[in-house]
Amino acid sequence: MSGCIFCKIAAGEVPAQVVKRGNGLLAFADLNPQAPTHLLIIPTTHVASLNEAKDPQLLGEMLSFARELADEKGVAMRGYRVVVNTNPDGGQTVFHLHLHLLGGRPMTWPPG
Ligand code: AMP
Ligand code: ZN
Repeated sequence: MSGCIFCKIAAGEVPAQVVKRGNGLLAFADLNPQAPTHLLIIPTTHVASLNEAKDPQLLGEMLSFARELADEKGVAMRGYRVVVNTNPDGGQTVFHLHLHLLGGRPMTWPPG
């Protein structure tokens, strides 16, 4: 979708620190990391938010991708958090579906 920053990253038009690609998915480092490991996992085709993500296979593949990345980044054993902020009350600021993978420090609960 034109004007979408994550579509531009997926197309290679905007630089990002890409960590992993595969099967219509891309993982790259968050520009403003909130933990020692903070990656974003996106579908390479535009989906605005979880509300629009009607394909359960895509959602499953995104979660599997996050799990693989957690392992590869060495945070799987100690633990990590996967977050999907959705729409304004959920704290979503970029309207292209993404999972946050956060790890490398203890997380607190409840989130802010
Ligand atoms: P959310 O608030 O859940 O929509 O998360 C959007 C995330 O995208 C934030 O954590 C931002 O730091 C991150 N972000 C925004 N623009 C970029 C970019 N060009 N490259 C990497 N991360 C970005
Ligand atoms: Zn997009």
